[in-house]
Amino acid sequence: MNLPELCVPDGIEPIVGWRYWRAESGWLLSLNRFKTWPAAKPLEARCSLTDAHPETPPGERCGCGIYAAVDLDTLKEIAEPDLESLLVVGEVALWGRVIPADLGYRAQFAYPRRLWVVRESLPALDWTGDVLLCLSEMYRIPVETCDARWAVVAEGVNPWPREPRVAEIRAAVSSFKQSVERLAAALADGQEAYARELARLRSEERTEALARSAFRSSFAGD
Ligand SMILES: [Zn+2]
Repeated sequence: MNLPELCVPDGIEPIVGWRYWRAESGWLLSLNRFKTWPAAKPLEARCSLTDAHPETPPGERCGCGIYAAVDLDTLKEIAEPDLESLLVVGEVALWGRVIPADLGYRAQFAYPRRLWVVRESLPALDWTGDVLLCLSEMYRIPVETCDARWAVVAEGVNPWPREPRVAEIRAAVSSFKQSVERLAAALADGQEAYARELARLRSEERTEALARSAFRSSFAGD
């Protein structure tokens, strides 16, 4: 039995999510480096609200909890970490109170399950594989290397991170075109249909954008 299974209480099947981390001296850190992930015991969510909700974190209407994406593709969409320092991607076991969201989960307990160190973020002189060894000994889980092309969005591999993100702009333009076409079709059906379609489009886009930006900004925290 490996360590994550020992960390997860008996009889509980953890949910598996995906995350990015930075690695320093064998420890996993959150992307913003504010939090170090413990080894040999789970990370437990805390609520930073002074007026905390009665339920254990994550709160139903709160932003607290340990965030993870549903899968790697979704993770790549949410976070675009650079390769300037050691970048780790991997599976994370989530259990306790877990609240599902469109793009992922907020969980009470978490422990890494399987890690990949992004090769392009390794220091040029780490040909001894120290980074992998330290991480796997610290967390007692399998650690391998992977290509940046697999682990981060294509734009993240771009050595000029300030260049416009072409794919994102293209997607926005195409969605804008679709909206215009839908509006034009509704207008042909009359003023009322047009007003209805316009209201629908507005509320839909706003909700979606809000949800995404909220999830995204919380992501680097744990
Ligand atoms: Zn909370």
